[in-house]
Amino acid sequence: MKSNPTESLKVLFSASEAEPFIKIGGLGDVAGSLPYALQSYFQNSLNLPKLDLHIFIPFHSRIPRDRFHLEKVDSFAIASVDSPIQAEVFLCNDTKLPVYLVAGKPIPDDSPVYDPNPFIDGKKFAFFSIAVLEFCRRQNWRPDILHANDWHTALMPFLIRQSDMFNDFFDSTRTILGVHNLPFMGGGTQAGLEAMEIPPSSDFHLPKWARHIPLPMGLSASDRIIAVSPGYAREILTPDFGCGLDGFLFTCTEKVTGILNGLDTALWNPLTDPLLVSNYSKSSPHKRIKNKHEIVTRLDLEFDVRTPLIIMISRLDQQKGLDVAIKALQNLTERKFQVVVLGIGDPVLEDACRAFEDEYPERVRWLQRFDQTLSHQLYASGDMIIIPSRYEPCGLTQMISMRYGCVPVARNTGGLRDTITDSGTQNGQTGFLFQNATADECEEAIERALNVFIDQTRWETIQKNGMKLDFSWKNSAAKYADEYIDLWKSK
Ligand code: ADP
Repeated sequence: MKSNPTESLKVLFSASEAEPFIKIGGLGDVAGSLPYALQSYFQNSLNLPKLDLHIFIPFHSRIPRDRFHLEKVDSFAIASVDSPIQAEVFLCNDTKLPVYLVAGKPIPDDSPVYDPNPFIDGKKFAFFSIAVLEFCRRQNWRPDILHANDWHTALMPFLIRQSDMFNDFFDSTRTILGVHNLPFMGGGTQAGLEAMEIPPSSDFHLPKWARHIPLPMGLSASDRIIAVSPGYAREILTPDFGCGLDGFLFTCTEKVTGILNGLDTALWNPLTDPLLVSNYSKSSPHKRIKNKHEIVTRLDLEFDVRTPLIIMISRLDQQKGLDVAIKALQNLTERKFQVVVLGIGDPVLEDACRAFEDEYPERVRWLQRFDQTLSHQLYASGDMIIIPSRYEPCGLTQMISMRYGCVPVARNTGGLRDTITDSGTQNGQTGFLFQNATADECEEAIERALNVFIDQTRWETIQKNGMKLDFSWKNSAAKYADEYIDLWKSK
């Protein structure tokens, strides 16, 4: 593990998923793009040190190992309650930054990235966290910044402060915990943590129930907490969104901030996207129609330019509120529109999608799968996308859709509020927002959108307003760089 010269800023970036290795949701997008955006930001800034950033993810069995050149760089044993467990670390050099994949028995061959059994996941991510830190110590690579993300890696900032685990090796390391989704705290994993000999937190500011749960343990130990949008950073301090930790977070507001996620604008570019029948830009949104024609006919729906195509691309999870959108659309069936839903997840919501399609076979399609290719094609052909989230830490879906000229109809919360403008007039308007996640309010916003859609000139102005926005990582990378430097100087 080579380090750059002394004046380099060493960053350990860890996550449970990262493109191009594995992606389940937005976290995979972020971990696969933010580090590279930081790399180019540091390279192009004169007054900054060299960035020496290393990415760590678990070697999940679903990672297509044949697609990458992997080199085994270390192998060592880690203590556990039963017997020592062997960890193996592989380095991938195909990417512009070094990515390390950590393997070992607790990251089982037959387990999904996120296992429904909390014991399996607790042990998996506890093992991963210890292995990464032990690897750094063995390589004598001492990170200046440890940037962990969500509950899966939240134990890392906690573990480096356990004096009996790594002595003083990480004493000068400063820590950031990225919060992409507060309610997912890693609850129920206590036995998994105990199996890896991880003690609970002794921070009396934390509620008692939270002291053995990975995310709160990490939040309490971290020097900075960075939520994925300024709006969500404010919301998690309130009882409505704080999931019982708002009181604790209030005791340390000075370390809580929010930075909006960016998009990989090379991957998500309608002008060059190889998956589209017809490429287009903000000066030619009319060319989208060929994409719509292709999708609509492929899905065996009737094509009519005047019929708005409404899409939803989402994990089927209570958070995402698809039930709200379905109810709203069911109340609007006297209007002309077609609906395509791409998503899998919660069986109850899957049943709702199935029933919706069965009820309106002439206008509704539900595609029960995770399909990246189709998602690109839908963003490029949908006229509007509904995002009725009950909460939304940042949300990439609305940014992608605006970039692709697909107008969002979304709940006014978190990152959706931070990125979508609903001025009520076409001046600066990029979408349609509604205040509460209820079918009535969602219906009202969809109806407003359907009414504007009839006036194609107005509609195109809204599309272009969205397509003009800069959702690249550049601005956000600069903000993360500021945080890194600030923490580095505080050592
Ligand atoms: P979250 O991370 O909460 O799932 P985001 O809006 O931040 O939500 O990111 C979701 C990402 O996953 C987007 O890139 C979206 O296009 C993608 N996605 C969600 N469901 C599917 C699906 N069924 N098929 C393909 N891509 C999907």
